[in-house]
Amino acid sequence: MSVTVRVPAKVNVQLAVGGARPDGFHDLANVFLAVGLYDEVTVSAAPSLTVTCSGPDAAQVPLDRTNLAARAAELLAARHGLSPDVHIHIDKDIPVAGGMAGGSADGAGALLACDALWGLGSSRAELLSICAELGSDVPFSLVGGAALGTGRGERLTELAVGGDFHWVFAVADGGLSTPAVYGEFDRLNASVAVPAPTASPALLEALRTGEATALAGALANDLQPAALSLRPSLSATLAAGMSAGALAGIVSGSGPTTAFLAKDADGAASIAESLTASGTCRAARPTSSPARGATVL
Ligand code: ATP
Repeated sequence: MSVTVRVPAKVNVQLAVGGARPDGFHDLANVFLAVGLYDEVTVSAAPSLTVTCSGPDAAQVPLDRTNLAARAAELLAARHGLSPDVHIHIDKDIPVAGGMAGGSADGAGALLACDALWGLGSSRAELLSICAELGSDVPFSLVGGAALGTGRGERLTELAVGGDFHWVFAVADGGLSTPAVYGEFDRLNASVAVPAPTASPALLEALRTGEATALAGALANDLQPAALSLRPSLSATLAAGMSAGALAGIVSGSGPTTAFLAKDADGAASIAESLTASGTCRAARPTSSPARGATVL
């Protein structure tokens, strides 16, 4: 018997970052939107915990116990006094180290899949508490849709979304390390009083009404200058997407994936074509949002 769970990638439509805290983390006001690029995580009983991965970026995914999917299985098993004897297969379509929370998606997916395989019937609250232990972005991968994350991003309030938004994600060659991008943020802001992060009322209103032009005007990512500083070539990708007709372009999370908001699905298809032809990215993926959170197939 096996269980397969489908889990979406995310884009941060707002990522407001506060100054470094004494523990090194940053307070965030993080507005997550789940988008229709998915990993599929399949678990089946096995003699011991093993991980395999398929997909274009599979070679960059760790197959040992540092994989967030393996850690999720271990944490859930430990809470129930079980041995995490499962084989986990990740069919990976979310870019790796791309700022789209692919590892977090696999953690949430493996957690839900193991819960079903082992017949545990854990409550949503129990699953969310394990997700928060796994990482700041993991609870959102379970929930999907749209949500405001505060604290380190892991305290979630679900948000209403009034319509579909159409996007193109330009996948860059190679990844960017999230800690390195935060380090660069700290370096760039060393002599600045960084304000406390707050969610933008205009952005929340744009999500609620589903108006793409309003959302385009409110997209904001405080990590973007740091990502551009570490990867200056992203400026050319952003410029190519804008000249292809995007309503707005932004670095996704810690990058290096860039996200372009289109006015409709046809607009997204044509922006994707232009971005591919521009030679400024490895791949351009049109998709829409919001997407459902982790779902057993
Ligand atoms: P975020 O947007 O949450 O900052 P990201 O999308 O930039 O994350 P991930 O794809 O989640 O980055 O991967 C970051 C690193 O985590 C990888 O380089 C890899 O070493 C490690 N990792 C652990 N588990 C996984 C997994 N299941 N899939 C991909 N990477 C994983």
